[in-house]
Amino acid sequence: MQCTLCPLSCGADREKAAGRCGVKGLTVAKYYLHPYEEPPICHTNGAGAVFFGGCSLRCVFCQNYELSRAERGKAVSPKELAEIFRRLEEMGADTLDLVTPDHVSNLVAEALSYYRPKIPVVYNTGGYCKAEALKEIDPFVDVYLPDLKFFSPALSKRYTGRADYFEYASEALRFMAKKPLVRGEKGELLSGILVRHLVLPACTFDSLRVLDFLKEVLPAGAPLSLMRQYTPMGEISGMPELARRVTAREYRRVVDYAGTLGFSEIYTQGKESASAEFIPKWDF
Ligand code: SF4
Repeated sequence: MQCTLCPLSCGADREKAAGRCGVKGLTVAKYYLHPYEEPPICHTNGAGAVFFGGCSLRCVFCQNYELSRAERGKAVSPKELAEIFRRLEEMGADTLDLVTPDHVSNLVAEALSYYRPKIPVVYNTGGYCKAEALKEIDPFVDVYLPDLKFFSPALSKRYTGRADYFEYASEALRFMAKKPLVRGEKGELLSGILVRHLVLPACTFDSLRVLDFLKEVLPAGAPLSLMRQYTPMGEISGMPELARRVTAREYRRVVDYAGTLGFSEIYTQGKESASAEFIPKWDF
């Protein structure tokens, strides 16, 4: 069957060969209790993160490069994946954190039909996905954790090769924003959406447009995460503007603007977050 799951619609027969996302079926590079997600999804023992191999979006500055380029990862079946979900829940995970699942979302949905943990299921996506694919997995998802990386088509084209990033991500985000917002006693997200935006060097103009869009579509009270962790790495030669970290002034400008728009729950990062030390070591 020809795969058209993600916006690349490359038509690969995933039973026989890898698509442009880099993987044939489903691969997992690591699963563990991840301590560094935002408090609404990671508050006691850590998020039960499952890192999938491959990705349909090729950010030049990818912070999980070996993973997104499918250089890491062990093939698993949906039934084996369901067992991983069970194990993470038994380990005391606060949530099941599905990291970059867009290019395998059909198989992840199948795994969740075999075993759906009682903890919130978090769909942690780079945002470049089709709203139709989300509709299929939506009955199994409690919390959406999407990035909204770029507003400008020129910027997304330069950094990912895709001018249509915002076109797809904005439609997907409008769909995800409909998930009812429900908080637990500790402020944890039981249902709803938490959007992330990675502030990039020399791109604050684009970050402000991203925030304007989020203000328009997110429900009142939705938390927001503004990330400062950008660390120069990947295929950034020829892009001198990406060869440095974000300055305090750039980051403050974006955070302050979010405040003026009325976002009241904003998760921020200190400058020490811009370090390769926080990148997980892959197991497979
Ligand atoms: S998910 Fe992979 S195989 Fe399917 S359309 Fe996208 S790039 Fe192609």
